[in-house]
Amino acid sequence: MSATILDGKKLAADMRADIAKHVAELKVKTGITPGLGVILIGMDPASTSYVTAKEKACAEAGMFSQDVRVPAETTQEEALELVRKMNADPRIHGILVQLPLPKHISESAVINAILPEKDVDGFTPVNIGRMLIGETCFLPCTPHGIIQMLLKAGVKTSGQHAVVVGRSNIVGKPVAHLLMRKAEGGNATVTVCHTGTRDLASFTRQADILVVAAGRPNTVMGDMIKPGAAVIDVGVNRIPDATRKSGFRLAGDVAFDSAKEVASLITPVPGGVGPMTITMLLYNTLAAARRLAAGKQL
Ligand code: NAP
Repeated sequence: MSATILDGKKLAADMRADIAKHVAELKVKTGITPGLGVILIGMDPASTSYVTAKEKACAEAGMFSQDVRVPAETTQEEALELVRKMNADPRIHGILVQLPLPKHISESAVINAILPEKDVDGFTPVNIGRMLIGETCFLPCTPHGIIQMLLKAGVKTSGQHAVVVGRSNIVGKPVAHLLMRKAEGGNATVTVCHTGTRDLASFTRQADILVVAAGRPNTVMGDMIKPGAAVIDVGVNRIPDATRKSGFRLAGDVAFDSAKEVASLITPVPGGVGPMTITMLLYNTLAAARRLAAGKQL
């Protein structure tokens, strides 16, 4: 059996076309153009390419975007001031601080400074808390994108056993929550694995839905997958490759070639979860602007 490859680029393009339509309608009805403020501190090549892709997607959707790129030596106070300025800027409905930040800046201090109603990444404690208790919030983009992919691919989650490898605040924990919550795309029985898990394969082999966000290539090999499972590979790893102009190629956390012979459905890297993450950022920015237009708080 060879798995269906879930084309994240195509799904994302369809959703972005729909978002662009809604952006145009909002502009006509209210005069409001949804705006995203992006803060990039330092020149990390992966972060720079993510930020560039996010800004390009904003422009394509007809949104306003403000790009602030500052050197790695920026102090924490200066970083906080950048966030405060965007909090106060009426053209900006969503703020994204690209992580990771340089070591001398506290990520939590900077994230906590973002107004929850502009927290389109869904990383502030207010948004995370609201998500956990089922109140209106911005869902974090990568986990939300994963749920959308499963829904659009027609993967049943209710009653299924979902196994998540990874427990980070931005992927593992929130995707586990979304898979277990009593809602569409949820209602699964969820197991979360991490580096303290004994015998990872014994858990991954039980998964009807397997989400891997470990940040390490080949964390899951084909023989660790239950036949017919849906496999979502979140990992983005740069593998040195002298045959490429860039000097590297991207690989996920799942050994794609062996996994696709066992799974029923699998996301590729690149072209899987990544494009959906950016799409959900646009979705949240549009939602933030709509709330403002309707005079609603978060
Ligand atoms: P992270 O903060 O480094 O967390 C990795 C998690 O995986 C940790 O909980 C860690 O366990 C666990 N882990 C690592 N190796 C493991 C192993 N061998 N067995 C079991 N668990 C293991 O990473 P992240 O921010 O969640 O990101 C994960 C990956 O997704 C990265 O490659 C990242 O680049 C990618 N990513 C992609 C997107 C996208 O849009 N495509 C978005 C975000 C992240 P401990 O907690 O025990 O250390």
